[in-house]
Amino acid sequence: MKAVKAYAAQSAESPLAPWHLDRREPGAEDVEIEILFCGVCHSDIHTARNEWRGTVYPAVPGHEIVGKVTRVGDSVTRFKAGDTVGVGCFVDSCGHCSNCNDYLEQYCENGHTQTYNSLSQDKKSITLGGYSTHIVVRERFVLNVSDKLPLANVAPLLCAGITTYSPIKHWNVKKGDKLAVLGLGGLGHMAVKIASSMGAEVTVLSRSKSKEKDAKRLGATHFKITSDPEVMKSLAASFNFIIDTVSADHDYNEYLALLRSNGVMILLGAPPNPADVSAFQLIGGRRSLVGSLVGGTKETQEMLDYCAEHNITSDIELINIDQINEAYERTLKGDVHYRFVIDMKSLK
Ligand code: NAP
Ligand code: ZN
Repeated sequence: MKAVKAYAAQSAESPLAPWHLDRREPGAEDVEIEILFCGVCHSDIHTARNEWRGTVYPAVPGHEIVGKVTRVGDSVTRFKAGDTVGVGCFVDSCGHCSNCNDYLEQYCENGHTQTYNSLSQDKKSITLGGYSTHIVVRERFVLNVSDKLPLANVAPLLCAGITTYSPIKHWNVKKGDKLAVLGLGGLGHMAVKIASSMGAEVTVLSRSKSKEKDAKRLGATHFKITSDPEVMKSLAASFNFIIDTVSADHDYNEYLALLRSNGVMILLGAPPNPADVSAFQLIGGRRSLVGSLVGGTKETQEMLDYCAEHNITSDIELINIDQINEAYERTLKGDVHYRFVIDMKSLK
């Protein structure tokens, strides 16, 4: 066990503050990583503040990790000390159910282990995430990261990137499809970049007029303000797909009405409370309301390689770890352009 520096929430009400945690010695299949950068996902805030209930304290968030390998176990074949690697939202799973066999570890039938606030596979401990100087992860969940791209901007691909890439691929979004992205934050801005790179005609639906110029720069063709009822009316039955990234409770029916027949609304945002959905919004146009969770290891590697090839990274604001509480407040206000990333040097 190695004691490392971290930032933790000690309760739902307390700000994040310095803490120490113990990382295990790398076992035969483990990779030990020195963390260089960690992105700040809205899920970190939901968890730190117990908005999804079930947070175990002290909680150390962080699942958009890029770093350098420091040590590897005897059975590790894909990595060696000095390699640049990434770790996303998962660090373990059963490894033998049908979903794990298909590299859909995020849907492990026996319960995956997320990077933080999650039961380890030996059922003995709760995981602690990337707001720390080092992490030890099973080889299967470690990704290759190209040195070609700026590493701080790559970190958010490990969650925001794969969470948007996976449904775009799964629902076969293609050239010419009319796709709306609801909410231009961390996930939303990656959805715009990835969907537009694949040829979709992207519309950003946002509350924030100030984001219009950025939306177009990121690859959107259109930008529409959701708070204007006339605008919403004019968009009825417009889209083949809506990617909903909103983190707060909202009315899905309003947006289902914007789908064409056979359209698909993909929920990525995870608001704390259940929502009411009118059957008529679905029946009327044979519409689908679906959800998607991050992505498996194979697809995450595919996404990282795709982004390296197409020069896609996240637009970030680099912060020191002592700015994390301020970054949370700004994220809650929608004032993020478009992902905060912690420079982990500031914790050493
Ligand atoms: P984020 O950076 O805070 O972006 C969310 C965006 O939603 C905001 O920038 C804002 O965009 C919009 N928004 C926020 N509050 C709103 C409200 N009350 N009404 C309408 N729009 C609102 O968050 P994120 O990191 O992208 O994460 C978004 C959600 O996805 C979170 O719930 C997170 O937990 C979840 N998530 C899910 C997965 C998955 O696997 N499905 C993975 C990661 C994260 P505008 O200013 O443009 O309106
Ligand atoms: Zn995330």
